[in-house]
Amino acid sequence: MKTIDLRSDTVTLPTPTMRKAMAAAEVGDDVYGEDPTVNRLEALTAQRLGKEAALFVSSGTQSNLVALLTHCRRGEEYIAGQWAHTYRYEAGGAAVLGGIQPQPLDFEPDGTLDLGKVAAAVKPDDLHFARTRLLCLENTMAGKVLPLPYIDAVGEFARDRGLRLHLDGARIFNAAVALNVHAREIARPFDSVSVCLSKGLAAPVGSVLCGSADFIRDARRWRKMLGGGMRQAGVLAAAGIVALEEMVERLPEDHRTAERLAAGLGRVPGIAVEGGGARTNMVFFTLDEALRGRWGPFMAARGVLVGDHPGPIRAVTHYGIDDDDIDAVVAAALDAAAACRARSPRPRPAEV
Ligand SMILES: *Cc1c(COP(=O)(O)O)cnc(C)c1O
Repeated sequence: MKTIDLRSDTVTLPTPTMRKAMAAAEVGDDVYGEDPTVNRLEALTAQRLGKEAALFVSSGTQSNLVALLTHCRRGEEYIAGQWAHTYRYEAGGAAVLGGIQPQPLDFEPDGTLDLGKVAAAVKPDDLHFARTRLLCLENTMAGKVLPLPYIDAVGEFARDRGLRLHLDGARIFNAAVALNVHAREIARPFDSVSVCLSKGLAAPVGSVLCGSADFIRDARRWRKMLGGGMRQAGVLAAAGIVALEEMVERLPEDHRTAERLAAGLGRVPGIAVEGGGARTNMVFFTLDEALRGRWGPFMAARGVLVGDHPGPIRAVTHYGIDDDDIDAVVAAALDAAAACRARSPRPRPAEV
């Protein structure tokens, strides 16, 4: 039985082309700047994102942390969404290691930060306050694509207020293919952009941080300090090059399978799909009382890995999952829901 893992697109395995490229990669000592494959990946990513320079890092978390450390000093502040990865899911790294204070704000339902609320959160120049230095956005945000006019407005806003702008673009290419624009259009107003190679693009390891040549020079020092200076890292970068050259163009497939999954789950009694459809490669849904806490093990028995916790559950489609898999997931979901209902305590006649 094939395991269909919907927990995340981080579970993707490297493609056969990646394996070959990794085995054949020309390498050198990247801390000396002498790994030709890393240099090629950095140049390629910078070009794809429309930035001057780029830095290959071990993970998205390290990429965001290096960006925050490069933009902000101790006693400075960054504004980010309450559920942003940089704030919520990175163990407080910027505060712990950088003395950088986060100012979280609630996201709007479309994944944007309201610029009126951001303006109100920017601290005046007063010795009581941390200095607000940086605004961080995420795109896609929980699968949602930020509208291009909003991104332009954010650029103007940041320029007016002297704020720097960082984009956690872990899935920026999902946003780009959804809007049918070049990733450069989405990256344009940002001073720095972090891109994950190891999510839907299926590389085994790595992220790339992009920005101006000056910014990346400083970022390289912070990466070294964090222990992220890798040596013959071209073995990993080789897979990253394949990710950018071959895997971006297949992302629409993931968005289609996510739509198919959303439609299928929407037909299962006891499952409510949020927003009625998919958001790029993600589907969010909730389970009713009868399914919650029981549905997951039934699904696992059918080879489908997916949560069954209270609150919205995220299912993510990715390389390695096709239409037949989605149909198998939906069939399993219908059976699992029926099994949960059959076992659910029946109301006594007096209560009916
Ligand atoms: C996965 C992810 C990261 C972090 O990447 P890791 O490689 O897991 O450290 C950062 N931001 C977003 C939005 C992500 O989805």
